Amino acid sequence: MLIFYQSGLAQLLLFGKFRTMMFFGTVITKNKSLTDISKRHEGTHIKQYWECLLLGLVLWILIAGIVALCGGHVSCWWLCAVPLTYYLMYGAEWAVSYLYHILKGDAREKWNDAAYHASAFEMEAYAHEDDPDYLPTRKWYAFTKYYGAI
Ligand SMILES: [Zn+2]
Repeated sequence: MLIFYQSGLAQLLLFGKFRTMMFFGTVITKNKSLTDISKRHEGTHIKQYWECLLLGLVLWILIAGIVALCGGHVSCWWLCAVPLTYYLMYGAEWAVSYLYHILKGDAREKWNDAAYHASAFEMEAYAHEDDPDYLPTRKWYAFTKYYGAI
């Protein structure tokens, strides 16, 4: 696991109580060190990131293949979006959950926190961050079992 401690990028990107994040398969943090719990949490996000990247690549190949069979063309520039698949999925899920909590009538100060903790990616990471045996035995795409849970 590649960890950038006291990262300037972390200083730039992270706000509020957030001090550490997974960033394109690495970890950036404002801290001088990380606990084993934080490393396992971010390690789960790293696995999720590579799984989503693979999913994005497979989807692009499928879509480009189908369009090509129909006589069309999909630009290879769309491949640049493949590394963003995890963030696009994370953001879409957060937006849906955020809207859900607004419509549910929750108090405004709870919307962001509730949406953050309702993320399938975060639910998996928090559920197993205390278990040192989880990451080596984790099944591929394990985060998908948290979809639909709020
Ligand atoms: Zn997390």
